[in-house]
Amino acid sequence: MDAAAPRPRSEALYARAVEVLPAGVNSPVRAFRAVGGTPVFFERGEGAELVDVDGRRYVDFCGSWGPLILGHAHPRVVAAVRETAERGLTFGAPHGGEVALAEAVREANAHLERLRFVSSGTEAVLSAIRVARGATGRAAVVKFDGCYHGHVDSLLVHAGSGLATFGTPSSAGVPAAFAETTLVCPLDNEAAFDEIVRHHGPAIAAVIIEPVPANHGLLLQRRAFLEHLRRRCDEIGACLVFDEVISGFRVGLGGAAALFKIRPDLATYGKIVGGGLPVGAYGGRQDLMAHVAPLGRVYQAGTLSGNPLGMAAGLATLTVLREEGIYAKLEALGATLEARVNGILRRRGVEAAFVRQGSIFWLALQAGAPPRTAAGVSSDAARRFAPLFHYCLSKGVYFGPSAYEVAFLSAAHTEHHVDLLCQVLDRAFAEGIGT
Ligand SMILES: *Cc1c(COP(=O)(O)O)cnc(C)c1O
Repeated sequence: MDAAAPRPRSEALYARAVEVLPAGVNSPVRAFRAVGGTPVFFERGEGAELVDVDGRRYVDFCGSWGPLILGHAHPRVVAAVRETAERGLTFGAPHGGEVALAEAVREANAHLERLRFVSSGTEAVLSAIRVARGATGRAAVVKFDGCYHGHVDSLLVHAGSGLATFGTPSSAGVPAAFAETTLVCPLDNEAAFDEIVRHHGPAIAAVIIEPVPANHGLLLQRRAFLEHLRRRCDEIGACLVFDEVISGFRVGLGGAAALFKIRPDLATYGKIVGGGLPVGAYGGRQDLMAHVAPLGRVYQAGTLSGNPLGMAAGLATLTVLREEGIYAKLEALGATLEARVNGILRRRGVEAAFVRQGSIFWLALQAGAPPRTAAGVSSDAARRFAPLFHYCLSKGVYFGPSAYEVAFLSAAHTEHHVDLLCQVLDRAFAEGIGT
């Protein structure tokens, strides 16, 4: 069926949705504001494909923003959730599933000497920051411009007037006093980080970074920069926190910590660790995690934390990832896609760079080398992306509806799906769309 045809059922659901949910959605980027038009409502997902409520089928390169490394409704994950559900949805008490998933997570990430499960990436980050503050007795946190760490109050922050000054809120509803505990540093810039350390070193509890920044396009970092952060954190006694909510179990079983061979003090997880259900996790050095209640005085709790369904989906996902050697296959498919898209860009003379880390990819719609900083991302990208997004949608290719969102391959994607994407991109560029 032609994906360009009207979507009357999506339109009707959207009309109802806006009367009951702000902008009709439960998370802002879903509202299509960055690309225009109305969001597509989905009926089901099958492997690498999505089917909307009007029966149109799409190859899905959004993957629910990261969790679906095995694709939609993987039979082993679905079976694990179904069997678990029949034995009770939540106990609010310990059960074996929590222990099994924690062991599986630690097996691949030895630096997580102790970890705790929570219900989202946001909750993982705010808990890890609280542990860092509680353990160090300090308040300040350094974050990097272009990294996203969930909607934690003190991290919804813009850079202040100068490098070494505290930030200002980037969201209404965040008191300036919260933002004033956060310092914002550019990525890829040792000198800028050192200036912050020079001014505030003894006040810094945590330095938090996405080691593979994937929330403002894909801003791949030099290993030397991450090593520099590691060294400086040791010098000033601050906790280095890797936010691996996207990169964890995505760039490999050991995430970015294993990829770069850098050991963070604390790390946060979400997305893949819950296999498509709402699960987050944070953990790290045992001496730091010993501050978490009831061992220590850092309070953190959750009614549905470690709930049986999330644990089952996460464990089934990690089990498949471990047993079936999925990462080599994803790397090979990613490399094929990269080579083909680069060929298309050259042949069509399109000013863009294809950026990739394993199964994460992003088309930087700008001239020159791939950017490594938020400031290096062209403001032109959004203007070029919107028509390209709608063209792809009309041809049955689904991306996250924003120029700044990365795309994902899953184990369910095949050369056939890559073919389709390349044909669609080639035709779009031939018609001047997205150029
Ligand atoms: C998605 C994301 C979060 C927030 O996770 P939620 O589950 O959406 O709360 C935090 N950090 C990073 C790096 C993310 O990509």
